[in-house]
Amino acid sequence: TKKALIIGSGIAGIASAIRLAIKGYAVEVFEANSYPGGKLSEITLGEYRFDSGPSLFTLPEQVDALFRLAGKKAEDHFEYEKLDVACHYFWEDGTRLKTYSDLNQFAEEVETKLGEPASNIREALRKSAFMYDSLSPLFMNRSLHKFNTWTNPHALKSYLRMRKLGIFSTMNEANEKQFSHPKLVQLFNRYATYNGSNPFETPATLNIIPHLEFNIGAFFPKKGMHDITQSLFKLSEELGVKYHFGQKADRILVESGEAKGISVNDHEIYADVVVNNMDMVNAYKTILKDQKQPKLLLNQPKSSSALIFYWGIKRNFPELDLHNIFFSDNYALEFEHIFKRGTIYEDPTVYLNITSTHKSDDAPADSMNWFTMVNVPNNQGQNWDQLIAEAKRNIIHKLNRILKTDVEPLIEVEEILDPRTIESKTSSARGALYGNSSNNKFAAFLRHANYSSSIKNLYFCGGSVHPGGGIPLCLLSAKIMSEMIEG
Ligand code: FAD
Repeated sequence: TKKALIIGSGIAGIASAIRLAIKGYAVEVFEANSYPGGKLSEITLGEYRFDSGPSLFTLPEQVDALFRLAGKKAEDHFEYEKLDVACHYFWEDGTRLKTYSDLNQFAEEVETKLGEPASNIREALRKSAFMYDSLSPLFMNRSLHKFNTWTNPHALKSYLRMRKLGIFSTMNEANEKQFSHPKLVQLFNRYATYNGSNPFETPATLNIIPHLEFNIGAFFPKKGMHDITQSLFKLSEELGVKYHFGQKADRILVESGEAKGISVNDHEIYADVVVNNMDMVNAYKTILKDQKQPKLLLNQPKSSSALIFYWGIKRNFPELDLHNIFFSDNYALEFEHIFKRGTIYEDPTVYLNITSTHKSDDAPADSMNWFTMVNVPNNQGQNWDQLIAEAKRNIIHKLNRILKTDVEPLIEVEEILDPRTIESKTSSARGALYGNSSNNKFAAFLRHANYSSSIKNLYFCGGSVHPGGGIPLCLLSAKIMSEMIEG
Protein backbone atom coordinates (compact mmCIF):
# COMPACT_ATOMS: atom_id res chain seq x y z
CA THR A 1 0.00 0.00 0.00
CA LYS A 2 1.08 3.52 -0.75
CA LYS A 3 1.46 5.86 2.20
CA ALA A 4 0.28 9.47 2.58
CA LEU A 5 1.26 11.88 5.38
CA ILE A 6 -0.92 14.89 6.15
CA ILE A 7 0.29 17.88 8.16
CA GLY A 8 -2.62 19.39 10.08
CA SER A 9 -6.10 18.12 10.96
CA GLY A 10 -8.08 21.23 10.00
CA ILE A 11 -11.32 20.40 8.23
CA ALA A 12 -9.49 20.19 4.88
CA GLY A 13 -6.83 17.89 6.38
CA ILE A 14 -9.52 15.53 7.69
CA ALA A 15 -11.40 15.60 4.36
CA SER A 16 -8.15 14.89 2.50
CA ALA A 17 -7.43 11.99 4.85
CA ILE A 18 -10.87 10.51 4.08
CA ARG A 19 -10.44 10.90 0.34
CA LEU A 20 -6.94 9.41 0.26
CA ALA A 21 -7.93 6.50 2.54
CA ILE A 22 -10.78 5.72 0.13
CA LYS A 23 -8.24 5.80 -2.71
CA GLY A 24 -6.39 3.02 -0.92
CA TYR A 25 -3.63 4.99 0.81
CA ALA A 26 -2.44 4.26 4.33
CA VAL A 27 -2.91 7.74 5.82
CA GLU A 28 -1.28 9.30 8.88
CA VAL A 29 -2.11 12.79 10.12
CA PHE A 30 0.27 14.83 12.27
CA GLU A 31 -1.44 17.58 14.28
CA ALA A 32 0.28 20.13 16.51
CA ASN A 33 -2.77 20.56 18.77
CA SER A 34 -4.11 17.92 21.14
CA TYR A 35 -7.44 17.88 19.25
CA PRO A 36 -8.67 17.71 15.63
CA GLY A 37 -10.45 20.45 13.67
CA GLY A 38 -8.16 23.50 13.86
CA LYS A 39 -10.45 26.53 13.64
CA LEU A 40 -13.52 24.30 13.61
CA SER A 41 -13.43 23.18 17.24
CA GLU A 42 -15.31 23.88 20.48
CA ILE A 43 -14.77 25.16 24.01
CA THR A 44 -16.71 24.72 27.21
CA LEU A 45 -16.87 27.26 30.03
CA GLY A 46 -18.65 25.91 33.09
CA GLU A 47 -22.09 24.79 31.93
CA TYR A 48 -21.79 26.58 28.59
CA ARG A 49 -20.60 25.05 25.29
CA PHE A 50 -19.45 27.19 22.34
CA ASP A 51 -18.41 26.41 18.78
CA SER A 52 -15.13 28.25 18.86
CA GLY A 53 -14.74 29.40 15.23
CA PRO A 54 -17.13 28.97 12.31
CA SER A 55 -20.81 29.43 13.08
CA LEU A 56 -22.49 29.59 9.69
CA PHE A 57 -22.90 26.35 7.77
CA THR A 58 -23.60 26.47 4.05
CA LEU A 59 -23.34 23.81 1.31
CA PRO A 60 -23.79 20.80 3.66
CA GLU A 61 -23.70 18.69 0.51
CA GLN A 62 -19.90 18.93 0.69
CA VAL A 63 -19.94 17.06 4.02
CA ASP A 64 -22.57 14.53 2.91
CA ALA A 65 -20.47 13.76 -0.17
CA LEU A 66 -17.67 12.41 2.03
CA PHE A 67 -19.97 9.92 3.76
CA ARG A 68 -21.41 8.82 0.44
CA LEU A 69 -17.94 8.39 -1.00
CA ALA A 70 -17.22 6.03 1.91
CA GLY A 71 -20.39 4.04 1.07
CA LYS A 72 -22.38 5.36 4.05
CA LYS A 73 -25.65 7.17 4.44
CA ALA A 74 -24.73 10.70 5.53
CA GLU A 75 -27.92 11.21 7.56
CA ASP A 76 -27.06 8.23 9.79
CA HIS A 77 -23.82 9.93 10.87
CA PHE A 78 -24.27 13.68 10.54
CA GLU A 79 -27.57 15.47 11.05
CA TYR A 80 -28.44 19.07 10.26
CA GLU A 81 -31.47 21.26 9.78
CA LYS A 82 -32.25 24.05 7.35
CA LEU A 83 -32.84 27.37 9.12
CA ASP A 84 -36.16 29.17 8.57
CA VAL A 85 -34.48 32.44 9.47
CA ALA A 86 -30.88 32.78 8.30
CA CYS A 87 -30.22 35.93 10.33
CA HIS A 88 -31.95 38.55 12.48
CA TYR A 89 -30.72 42.08 11.74
CA PHE A 90 -30.93 44.98 14.20
CA TRP A 91 -30.24 48.68 13.61
CA GLU A 92 -29.80 51.52 16.10
CA ASP A 93 -32.95 53.30 14.87
CA GLY A 94 -35.07 50.34 15.98
CA THR A 95 -35.44 48.71 12.55
CA ARG A 96 -35.37 44.91 12.71
CA LEU A 97 -35.35 42.58 9.74
CA LYS A 98 -35.26 38.82 9.32
CA THR A 99 -33.76 37.06 6.33
CA TYR A 100 -36.32 34.28 5.92
CA SER A 101 -35.34 31.28 3.87
CA ASP A 102 -38.75 31.52 2.23
CA LEU A 103 -38.03 34.04 -0.50
CA ASN A 104 -41.60 35.35 -0.70
CA GLN A 105 -41.63 35.95 3.03
CA PHE A 106 -38.28 37.76 2.88
CA ALA A 107 -39.37 39.90 -0.08
CA GLU A 108 -42.54 40.81 1.79
CA GLU A 109 -40.57 41.66 4.95
CA VAL A 110 -38.30 43.99 2.99
CA GLU A 111 -41.19 45.63 1.16
CA THR A 112 -43.18 46.22 4.36
CA LYS A 113 -40.30 47.38 6.55
CA LEU A 114 -38.06 49.24 4.09
CA GLY A 115 -40.34 49.95 1.15
CA GLU A 116 -37.89 48.13 -1.13
CA PRO A 117 -39.76 46.59 -4.09
CA ALA A 118 -39.92 42.79 -3.78
CA SER A 119 -38.91 42.57 -7.43
CA ASN A 120 -35.46 44.03 -6.57
CA ILE A 121 -34.84 41.18 -4.15
CA ARG A 122 -35.98 38.53 -6.60
CA GLU A 123 -33.85 40.01 -9.38
CA ALA A 124 -30.75 40.26 -7.15
CA LEU A 125 -31.06 36.63 -6.04
CA ARG A 126 -31.69 35.46 -9.59
CA LYS A 127 -28.51 37.24 -10.65
CA SER A 128 -26.64 35.73 -7.72
CA ALA A 129 -27.74 32.24 -8.82
CA PHE A 130 -26.68 32.94 -12.41
CA MET A 131 -23.27 34.10 -11.21
CA TYR A 132 -22.85 31.03 -9.03
CA ASP A 133 -23.77 28.70 -11.87
CA SER A 134 -21.42 30.57 -14.18
CA LEU A 135 -18.41 30.88 -11.89
CA SER A 136 -18.42 27.86 -9.61
CA PRO A 137 -17.42 25.32 -12.33
CA LEU A 138 -14.23 27.30 -12.88
CA PHE A 139 -13.41 28.90 -9.54
CA MET A 140 -14.64 26.36 -7.01
CA ASN A 141 -14.55 22.92 -8.53
CA ARG A 142 -11.30 22.77 -10.44
CA SER A 143 -7.67 23.68 -10.15
CA LEU A 144 -7.02 27.04 -11.78
CA HIS A 145 -3.45 25.95 -12.27
CA LYS A 146 -3.86 22.98 -14.59
CA PHE A 147 -3.96 23.42 -18.34
CA ASN A 148 -6.91 21.08 -18.85
CA THR A 149 -9.11 23.35 -16.68
CA TRP A 150 -8.90 25.99 -19.36
CA THR A 151 -9.75 23.60 -22.17
CA ASN A 152 -12.78 22.18 -20.35
CA PRO A 153 -16.01 23.40 -22.01
CA HIS A 154 -17.82 24.26 -18.72
CA ALA A 155 -14.90 26.24 -17.40
CA LEU A 156 -14.41 27.98 -20.69
CA LYS A 157 -18.05 29.07 -20.63
CA SER A 158 -17.50 30.50 -17.11
CA TYR A 159 -14.49 32.42 -18.31
CA LEU A 160 -16.35 33.89 -21.27
CA ARG A 161 -19.25 34.94 -19.04
CA MET A 162 -16.95 36.70 -16.58
CA ARG A 163 -16.96 40.02 -18.39
CA LYS A 164 -20.73 40.16 -18.17
CA LEU A 165 -20.77 39.40 -14.46
CA GLY A 166 -19.55 42.72 -13.21
CA ILE A 167 -16.03 41.90 -12.09
CA PHE A 168 -15.16 45.51 -12.90
CA SER A 169 -17.35 47.08 -10.23
CA THR A 170 -17.13 46.60 -6.48
CA MET A 171 -19.70 44.68 -4.44
CA ASN A 172 -20.91 47.96 -2.91
CA GLU A 173 -21.31 49.63 -6.31
CA ALA A 174 -23.29 46.67 -7.61
CA ASN A 175 -25.50 46.62 -4.52
CA GLU A 176 -26.16 50.36 -4.71
CA LYS A 177 -27.35 49.74 -8.27
CA GLN A 178 -29.66 46.85 -7.45
CA PHE A 179 -31.23 48.13 -4.21
CA SER A 180 -32.77 51.48 -3.36
CA HIS A 181 -32.70 51.33 0.46
CA PRO A 182 -29.29 51.88 2.11
CA LYS A 183 -30.11 49.29 4.81
CA LEU A 184 -30.52 46.63 2.14
CA VAL A 185 -27.27 47.69 0.49
CA GLN A 186 -25.61 47.28 3.91
CA LEU A 187 -27.22 43.88 4.45
CA PHE A 188 -26.02 42.59 1.08
CA ASN A 189 -22.59 44.21 1.50
CA ARG A 190 -22.16 42.13 4.63
CA TYR A 191 -21.67 38.99 2.52
CA ALA A 192 -18.13 40.21 1.75
CA THR A 193 -17.27 39.42 5.37
CA TYR A 194 -18.09 35.74 4.72
CA ASN A 195 -14.59 35.46 3.33
CA GLY A 196 -13.00 38.26 5.29
CA SER A 197 -13.12 40.89 2.54
CA ASN A 198 -14.09 44.55 2.21
CA PRO A 199 -17.36 45.16 0.28
CA PHE A 200 -16.09 48.58 -0.77
CA GLU A 201 -13.15 46.96 -2.58
CA THR A 202 -14.02 43.37 -3.35
CA PRO A 203 -15.31 42.66 -6.89
CA ALA A 204 -19.05 42.28 -7.43
CA THR A 205 -18.47 38.62 -8.29
CA LEU A 206 -18.60 37.97 -4.55
CA ASN A 207 -22.32 38.60 -4.91
CA ILE A 208 -22.51 34.86 -5.53
CA ILE A 209 -22.49 34.40 -1.73
CA PRO A 210 -26.14 35.44 -1.09
CA HIS A 211 -27.13 32.63 -3.48
CA LEU A 212 -25.66 30.09 -1.05
CA GLU A 213 -27.57 31.49 1.92
CA PHE A 214 -30.91 32.37 0.26
CA ASN A 215 -31.35 29.95 -2.62
CA ILE A 216 -29.58 26.89 -1.19
CA GLY A 217 -29.94 27.70 2.50
CA ALA A 218 -28.24 28.26 5.82
CA PHE A 219 -28.01 25.14 7.96
CA PHE A 220 -27.24 24.15 11.52
CA PRO A 221 -25.73 20.79 12.51
CA LYS A 222 -27.96 19.33 15.21
CA LYS A 223 -25.01 18.72 17.52
CA GLY A 224 -23.40 22.09 16.76
CA MET A 225 -20.77 23.16 14.24
CA HIS A 226 -18.18 21.08 16.02
CA ASP A 227 -20.01 17.96 14.84
CA ILE A 228 -18.74 18.68 11.30
CA THR A 229 -15.26 18.01 12.67
CA GLN A 230 -16.33 15.19 15.00
CA SER A 231 -18.37 13.19 12.51
CA LEU A 232 -15.74 13.46 9.76
CA PHE A 233 -12.94 12.69 12.20
CA LYS A 234 -14.81 9.55 13.26
CA LEU A 235 -15.42 8.56 9.63
CA SER A 236 -11.72 8.96 8.85
CA GLU A 237 -10.75 6.76 11.80
CA GLU A 238 -13.22 4.10 10.63
CA LEU A 239 -11.44 4.22 7.27
CA GLY A 240 -8.17 3.46 9.04
CA VAL A 241 -6.63 6.95 9.20
CA LYS A 242 -4.13 7.24 12.08
CA TYR A 243 -3.78 10.52 13.99
CA HIS A 244 -0.79 11.76 15.96
CA PHE A 245 -1.85 14.64 18.21
CA GLY A 246 0.56 17.05 19.86
CA GLN A 247 2.99 16.28 17.01
CA LYS A 248 4.14 19.36 15.16
CA ALA A 249 5.85 18.78 11.82
CA ASP A 250 9.11 20.70 11.62
CA ARG A 251 10.09 20.02 8.00
CA ILE A 252 8.93 18.49 4.75
CA LEU A 253 11.71 16.20 3.53
CA VAL A 254 12.66 16.95 -0.06
CA GLU A 255 15.26 15.05 -2.07
CA SER A 256 16.05 15.67 -5.74
CA GLY A 257 12.87 17.69 -6.27
CA GLU A 258 10.63 15.11 -4.66
CA ALA A 259 8.78 15.10 -1.30
CA LYS A 260 9.94 12.01 0.60
CA GLY A 261 8.21 12.51 3.94
CA ILE A 262 8.22 14.77 6.96
CA SER A 263 10.26 15.37 10.05
CA VAL A 264 8.49 15.58 13.41
CA ASN A 265 10.56 16.31 16.54
CA ASP A 266 13.65 15.51 14.45
CA HIS A 267 12.25 12.07 13.70
CA GLU A 268 11.97 11.32 9.96
CA ILE A 269 8.90 9.57 8.55
CA TYR A 270 8.77 8.52 4.90
CA ALA A 271 5.81 8.33 2.53
CA ASP A 272 4.79 8.35 -1.15
CA VAL A 273 2.76 11.53 -0.88
CA VAL A 274 2.84 14.53 1.51
CA VAL A 275 -0.19 16.80 1.95
CA ASN A 276 0.12 20.09 3.80
CA ASN A 277 -2.96 21.59 5.50
CA MET A 278 -1.00 24.27 7.36
CA ASP A 279 -1.41 27.91 6.30
CA MET A 280 0.96 28.43 3.35
CA VAL A 281 2.59 31.65 4.56
CA ASN A 282 3.67 30.05 7.80
CA ALA A 283 4.47 26.77 6.02
CA TYR A 284 7.02 28.50 3.78
CA LYS A 285 8.55 30.08 6.89
CA THR A 286 8.86 26.76 8.71
CA ILE A 287 8.35 23.33 7.15
CA LEU A 288 9.28 24.57 3.63
CA LYS A 289 11.81 27.21 4.62
CA ASP A 290 14.64 25.71 2.54
CA GLN A 291 12.49 25.59 -0.61
CA LYS A 292 11.94 28.20 -3.33
CA GLN A 293 9.50 30.82 -1.96
CA PRO A 294 6.56 31.91 -4.17
CA LYS A 295 6.92 35.51 -2.98
CA LEU A 296 4.08 37.05 -5.01
CA LEU A 297 1.54 34.60 -3.60
CA LEU A 298 2.85 34.83 -0.06
CA ASN A 299 2.77 38.63 -0.02
CA GLN A 300 -0.91 38.98 -0.91
CA PRO A 301 -2.98 40.88 1.68
CA LYS A 302 -4.62 38.60 4.21
CA SER A 303 -8.31 38.50 5.09
CA SER A 304 -9.69 40.18 8.18
CA SER A 305 -9.57 38.48 11.54
CA ALA A 306 -12.02 38.34 14.45
CA LEU A 307 -12.32 39.34 18.06
CA ILE A 308 -14.65 37.02 19.94
CA PHE A 309 -16.03 37.18 23.45
CA TYR A 310 -17.54 33.85 24.49
CA TRP A 311 -20.08 34.92 27.10
CA GLY A 312 -22.31 32.79 29.29
CA ILE A 313 -25.38 35.06 29.74
CA LYS A 314 -27.71 34.32 32.64
CA ARG A 315 -30.90 35.49 30.98
CA ASN A 316 -33.03 34.49 28.05
CA PHE A 317 -33.71 36.98 25.21
CA PRO A 318 -36.63 35.64 23.17
CA GLU A 319 -36.03 38.22 20.41
CA LEU A 320 -32.61 36.72 19.64
CA ASP A 321 -32.11 33.98 17.10
CA LEU A 322 -29.21 31.68 16.14
CA HIS A 323 -27.52 34.39 14.02
CA ASN A 324 -27.98 38.07 14.96
CA ILE A 325 -26.35 41.19 13.55
CA PHE A 326 -26.30 44.60 15.21
CA PHE A 327 -25.25 46.89 12.38
CA SER A 328 -22.85 49.80 12.59
CA ASP A 329 -24.33 53.16 11.61
CA ASN A 330 -21.35 53.78 9.33
CA TYR A 331 -20.35 50.62 7.48
CA ALA A 332 -17.89 52.38 5.12
CA LEU A 333 -16.00 53.86 8.07
CA GLU A 334 -16.01 50.49 9.88
CA PHE A 335 -14.31 48.81 6.89
CA GLU A 336 -11.90 51.69 6.53
CA HIS A 337 -10.84 51.04 10.12
CA ILE A 338 -10.43 47.29 9.52
CA PHE A 339 -8.61 47.36 6.18
CA LYS A 340 -6.91 50.78 5.99
CA ARG A 341 -6.28 51.95 9.53
CA GLY A 342 -5.66 48.51 11.05
CA THR A 343 -7.86 49.21 14.04
CA ILE A 344 -11.42 48.71 15.35
CA TYR A 345 -14.16 51.28 14.71
CA GLU A 346 -15.88 52.65 17.81
CA ASP A 347 -19.33 51.67 16.46
CA PRO A 348 -18.60 48.15 15.20
CA THR A 349 -21.07 45.72 13.64
CA VAL A 350 -21.64 43.12 16.34
CA TYR A 351 -22.46 39.50 15.49
CA LEU A 352 -24.12 37.33 18.12
CA ASN A 353 -24.24 33.61 17.45
CA ILE A 354 -26.34 31.77 20.02
CA THR A 355 -26.43 28.01 19.51
CA SER A 356 -28.50 27.48 22.67
CA THR A 357 -31.49 28.82 20.66
CA HIS A 358 -31.31 25.60 18.62
CA LYS A 359 -29.43 23.26 20.93
CA SER A 360 -30.75 23.85 24.42
CA ASP A 361 -28.07 21.88 26.28
CA ASP A 362 -25.43 24.42 25.17
CA ALA A 363 -26.48 26.67 28.10
CA PRO A 364 -28.19 26.21 31.48
CA ALA A 365 -31.94 26.90 31.77
CA ASP A 366 -32.95 30.55 31.18
CA SER A 367 -29.45 31.34 29.98
CA MET A 368 -27.76 31.73 26.60
CA ASN A 369 -24.30 31.12 25.14
CA TRP A 370 -23.35 34.32 23.33
CA PHE A 371 -20.55 34.02 20.80
CA THR A 372 -20.04 37.78 20.42
CA MET A 373 -17.85 38.68 17.45
CA VAL A 374 -16.63 41.78 15.64
CA ASN A 375 -14.57 41.79 12.44
CA VAL A 376 -11.12 43.20 13.13
CA PRO A 377 -7.91 43.74 11.16
CA ASN A 378 -5.46 40.89 11.00
CA ASN A 379 -2.53 41.02 13.37
CA GLN A 380 0.05 43.63 12.41
CA GLY A 381 1.41 44.02 15.93
CA GLN A 382 -1.31 46.36 17.20
CA ASN A 383 -1.76 46.95 20.93
CA TRP A 384 -4.41 44.25 21.17
CA ASP A 385 -4.92 44.41 24.93
CA GLN A 386 -5.94 48.05 24.62
CA LEU A 387 -8.05 47.46 21.47
CA ILE A 388 -9.84 44.55 23.13
CA ALA A 389 -10.69 46.57 26.26
CA GLU A 390 -12.06 49.45 24.14
CA ALA A 391 -13.98 47.10 21.83
CA LYS A 392 -15.56 45.31 24.78
CA ARG A 393 -16.89 48.60 26.14
CA ASN A 394 -18.21 49.67 22.72
CA ILE A 395 -19.85 46.29 22.07
CA ILE A 396 -21.59 46.27 25.43
CA HIS A 397 -22.85 49.85 24.94
CA LYS A 398 -24.19 48.97 21.52
CA LEU A 399 -25.98 45.85 22.76
CA ASN A 400 -27.36 47.81 25.74
CA ARG A 401 -28.78 50.50 23.43
CA ILE A 402 -30.41 48.09 20.99
CA LEU A 403 -31.60 45.44 23.46
CA LYS A 404 -32.54 48.11 26.03
CA THR A 405 -30.89 46.29 28.88
CA ASP A 406 -27.66 46.26 30.85
CA VAL A 407 -25.68 43.32 29.46
CA GLU A 408 -22.54 43.44 31.61
CA PRO A 409 -24.03 42.11 34.90
CA LEU A 410 -25.49 39.15 32.95
CA ILE A 411 -22.06 37.85 31.88
CA GLU A 412 -21.35 34.80 34.05
CA VAL A 413 -18.29 33.43 32.29
CA GLU A 414 -16.01 34.88 29.64
CA GLU A 415 -13.24 33.79 27.34
CA ILE A 416 -11.64 35.80 24.54
CA LEU A 417 -10.21 34.84 21.14
CA ASP A 418 -8.26 37.47 19.17
CA PRO A 419 -6.00 37.55 16.09
CA ARG A 420 -2.93 36.64 18.18
CA THR A 421 -4.54 33.54 19.68
CA ILE A 422 -6.11 32.51 16.37
CA GLU A 423 -2.57 32.45 14.95
CA SER A 424 -1.02 30.66 17.90
CA LYS A 425 -3.78 28.00 17.97
CA THR A 426 -4.01 27.26 14.23
CA SER A 427 -0.83 28.72 12.63
CA SER A 428 -2.84 31.11 10.41
CA ALA A 429 -0.62 33.95 9.20
CA ARG A 430 -1.61 37.14 11.06
CA GLY A 431 -4.62 35.32 12.52
CA ALA A 432 -6.53 35.85 9.25
CA LEU A 433 -9.73 33.77 9.17
CA TYR A 434 -9.76 32.98 5.46
CA GLY A 435 -6.16 33.07 4.14
CA ASN A 436 -5.80 35.78 1.47
CA SER A 437 -8.46 38.46 1.25
CA SER A 438 -10.49 38.74 -1.97
CA ASN A 439 -10.16 42.50 -2.12
CA ASN A 440 -8.90 42.61 -5.69
CA LYS A 441 -10.19 41.00 -8.82
CA PHE A 442 -7.13 38.85 -9.33
CA ALA A 443 -7.30 37.32 -5.84
CA ALA A 444 -8.66 34.01 -7.15
CA PHE A 445 -5.55 33.64 -9.31
CA LEU A 446 -3.16 34.59 -6.53
CA ARG A 447 -3.90 31.76 -4.12
CA HIS A 448 -1.43 28.92 -3.92
CA ALA A 449 -2.16 25.93 -6.15
CA ASN A 450 -3.23 22.59 -4.66
CA TYR A 451 0.12 21.06 -5.63
CA SER A 452 3.73 22.12 -5.76
CA SER A 453 4.99 22.91 -9.24
CA SER A 454 8.62 22.36 -8.20
CA ILE A 455 8.38 19.48 -5.71
CA LYS A 456 6.90 16.21 -6.88
CA ASN A 457 4.39 14.38 -4.61
CA LEU A 458 3.71 17.48 -2.51
CA TYR A 459 0.10 18.70 -2.30
CA PHE A 460 -1.83 21.42 -0.46
CA CYS A 461 -5.31 21.83 1.00
CA GLY A 462 -7.07 24.27 3.35
CA GLY A 463 -8.21 27.85 3.59
CA SER A 464 -4.97 29.43 2.38
CA VAL A 465 -4.87 27.62 -0.99
CA HIS A 466 -7.23 27.40 -3.96
CA PRO A 467 -10.24 27.79 -3.94
CA GLY A 468 -10.08 29.71 -0.61
CA GLY A 469 -11.29 29.93 2.99
CA GLY A 470 -14.53 28.91 4.69
CA ILE A 471 -15.70 25.37 5.33
CA PRO A 472 -17.25 24.60 1.90
CA LEU A 473 -14.20 25.85 0.00
CA CYS A 474 -11.80 24.04 2.34
CA LEU A 475 -13.72 20.81 1.67
CA LEU A 476 -13.49 21.52 -2.06
CA SER A 477 -9.73 22.08 -1.78
CA ALA A 478 -9.46 18.52 -0.44
CA LYS A 479 -11.50 17.24 -3.37
CA ILE A 480 -9.53 19.13 -6.04
CA MET A 481 -6.25 18.11 -4.40
CA SER A 482 -7.05 14.41 -3.99
CA GLU A 483 -8.28 14.13 -7.58
CA MET A 484 -4.73 15.05 -8.66
CA ILE A 485 -3.27 12.09 -6.78
CA GLU A 486 -3.21 8.72 -8.47
CA GLY A 487 -4.95 5.89 -6.59
P1 FAD B 1 -7.28 25.10 10.01
O1 FAD B 1 -8.55 25.08 10.75
O2 FAD B 1 -6.60 26.39 9.77
O3 FAD B 1 -6.32 24.09 10.75
C1 FAD B 1 -4.98 23.88 10.41
C2 FAD B 1 -4.45 22.82 11.36
O4 FAD B 1 -3.10 22.55 11.04
C3 FAD B 1 -4.50 23.28 12.82
O5 FAD B 1 -5.15 22.29 13.58
C4 FAD B 1 -3.03 23.42 13.19
O6 FAD B 1 -2.76 23.10 14.55
C5 FAD B 1 -2.40 22.40 12.26
N1 FAD B 1 -0.98 22.68 12.02
C6 FAD B 1 -0.45 23.85 11.60
N2 FAD B 1 0.89 23.73 11.48
C7 FAD B 1 1.21 22.46 11.83
C8 FAD B 1 2.44 21.72 11.89
N3 FAD B 1 3.62 22.27 11.56
N4 FAD B 1 2.39 20.42 12.27
C9 FAD B 1 1.21 19.84 12.61
N5 FAD B 1 0.02 20.49 12.58
C10 FAD B 1 0.03 21.79 12.18
N6 FAD B 1 -16.00 29.41 7.85
C11 FAD B 1 -17.27 29.16 7.50
O7 FAD B 1 -17.52 28.40 6.55
N7 FAD B 1 -18.31 29.72 8.19
C12 FAD B 1 -18.11 30.55 9.26
O8 FAD B 1 -19.06 31.02 9.89
C13 FAD B 1 -16.77 30.85 9.63
N8 FAD B 1 -16.51 31.65 10.70
C14 FAD B 1 -15.25 31.69 11.22
C15 FAD B 1 -15.03 32.32 12.45
C16 FAD B 1 -13.80 32.28 13.05
C17 FAD B 1 -13.59 32.94 14.37
C18 FAD B 1 -12.72 31.60 12.40
C19 FAD B 1 -11.38 31.51 13.07
C20 FAD B 1 -12.92 31.03 11.16
C21 FAD B 1 -14.18 31.06 10.55
N9 FAD B 1 -14.43 30.44 9.32
C22 FAD B 1 -15.72 30.22 8.91
C23 FAD B 1 -13.32 29.93 8.48
C24 FAD B 1 -13.07 28.45 8.68
O9 FAD B 1 -12.98 28.18 10.04
C25 FAD B 1 -11.76 28.06 8.02
O10 FAD B 1 -11.73 28.47 6.65
C26 FAD B 1 -11.50 26.56 8.05
O11 FAD B 1 -11.93 25.97 9.24
C27 FAD B 1 -10.01 26.34 7.85
O12 FAD B 1 -9.72 24.98 7.77
P2 FAD B 1 -8.32 24.45 7.31
O13 FAD B 1 -8.51 23.06 6.81
O14 FAD B 1 -7.66 25.40 6.40
O15 FAD B 1 -7.44 24.32 8.62
